[in-house]
Amino acid sequence: MTQKFTCPHCSRSLNPPDRLLGHTVNCPSCKEKITLPRTAIQQHSNMTSNAINTHQKSSDGLIASGYFCSLIALLLFPPGFGIAGLAIGIINLTKGSIGHGIAQIVLSITCAVFGMIIGVATSV
Ligand SMILES: [Zn+2]
Repeated sequence: MTQKFTCPHCSRSLNPPDRLLGHTVNCPSCKEKITLPRTAIQQHSNMTSNAINTHQKSSDGLIASGYFCSLIALLLFPPGFGIAGLAIGIINLTKGSIGHGIAQIVLSITCAVFGMIIGVATSV
């Protein structure tokens, strides 16, 4: 995989081969010495969006299971699934999926409370 890199001296966009990453080379455009980053993480541009995209991609299953647990809590064993949904929501929040994390925390608490009310109401 080739990393995109911008020369700090002439701002030219470069595509250095993987074997040169982490090394100091001369810019093909302005001939200044530049140190290529080892990974895209060290770049300023695209860094934030790449990090968020990676997080969201890697936790797709976790996001789905967070909503799943929260909704199951409404029908089945609210304390257990409610807490599971809450825990997964917090994990998603810390992994960078702020919107999903907050939504799952709110949803899991709401569903657990309603699930317990429904449970009490139907058992009486
Ligand atoms: Zn340059």
